[in-house]
Amino acid sequence: MYIKKQRLLTPGPTPLLPAALHAMMGSDIHHRTEDFRTLYKQVLADLQHVLATSHDVLVVVASGSGALEAATQNFFSPGDEVLVCSAGKFGERWEEIMKAWGMKATVLKAAYGDAVQPEAVRQALAQNRAIKGVFVQASETSTGTEHDVRAMGRAVKETGALFVVDAITGFGTMPLDIEGWGLDIVIGGSQKAFMIPPGLAFLSISPKAWAAADSAKAPRFYFDLKKEKKNAVNGESAWTPNTALLLAFAESLKYIKSIGMDKLVANAQLLARATREAMQPLGLQLFSTSPGSSVTAVRPPAGMDSGVIVKEFRSRFNAIITNGQGSMKGQIFRLAHLGYFDFHDLFAIIAELEIILAANGQPVRFGSGVAAVQNAYMDVALPKAELALS
Ligand SMILES: *Cc1c(COP(=O)(O)O)cnc(C)c1O
Repeated sequence: MYIKKQRLLTPGPTPLLPAALHAMMGSDIHHRTEDFRTLYKQVLADLQHVLATSHDVLVVVASGSGALEAATQNFFSPGDEVLVCSAGKFGERWEEIMKAWGMKATVLKAAYGDAVQPEAVRQALAQNRAIKGVFVQASETSTGTEHDVRAMGRAVKETGALFVVDAITGFGTMPLDIEGWGLDIVIGGSQKAFMIPPGLAFLSISPKAWAAADSAKAPRFYFDLKKEKKNAVNGESAWTPNTALLLAFAESLKYIKSIGMDKLVANAQLLARATREAMQPLGLQLFSTSPGSSVTAVRPPAGMDSGVIVKEFRSRFNAIITNGQGSMKGQIFRLAHLGYFDFHDLFAIIAELEIILAANGQPVRFGSGVAAVQNAYMDVALPKAELALS
């Protein structure tokens, strides 16, 4: 037990793709050269490909929250009526952004661990025809909850409102049919399922959203998406880009293209399912009533602070997992599945969790959680003949 490899197992930042990490060393390039323009055009084309949309896709230098703000200031005006679906810390972030930009927000609030129901969105839109935008998290990372974005999209589509979806942990963990479901602005971030460090965010933007941008009056300067679009056409960014992260992004997009975005989603879904199944024999309860596949939020055993589990993952195994955020701190621990996670990781995570529970006096039958993951693996494993070929 003297060598303990550090493992980053959080729902952002996530484990890094080695090829992407190595590519960052080539960042001694200038951004107003043909080398860069080739790279940038490739990134935007591949991003559009993996998001499976013909809508414009733009990249900005910011963490995910920067793109949430850009999605607000570029398409709306102070005083606009908006509808915010808020089911956790990231829903609350939408509320704070609306307040900062002077929007009049009606908030549909779900208790932590619950999802906002599409029917509530439909009713709120019917009651207030002035609503210009509906804001939601596809995946609410703080509680491990997934929203039914497809059904919400159907409700929003019938109105003039824009549907703005924070898919920062939704991309790569759930199907998202941007055009088919009427998702006008969809936001992603580099440090989640895209397997690279934090610092890039991106948005897909529908023609309906661009039309709204023409009359939107909120001030903008750095995050001027029309300016970004004009530059992107020529393979350039409006400002000095993060070349290191773009080199990494090019590699991760290449990798995601090679396995297929649907397979990246299926991978997270399988690991999430196996994790849920492993919690039963360990006697642990899930926190969410609509659990998604980006992260699984689990309640600790009665009387135990989840911080003990988080701390012992670090001290015993040098593995970094996450506690609950805000008032959920101590109430849940969260196991991530998005991006560069595999069954090998999960076998270890569950075996380690069993040890931590046992060391804290919990009645654990060693191997019972791991066996659940092994069974989930066997359910989906390739037959021997195919394994030999791959
Ligand atoms: C990580 C995350 C964000 C962005 O947070 P940043 O710290 O700004 O990158 C926003 N929404 C959700 C749902 C997230 O998981």
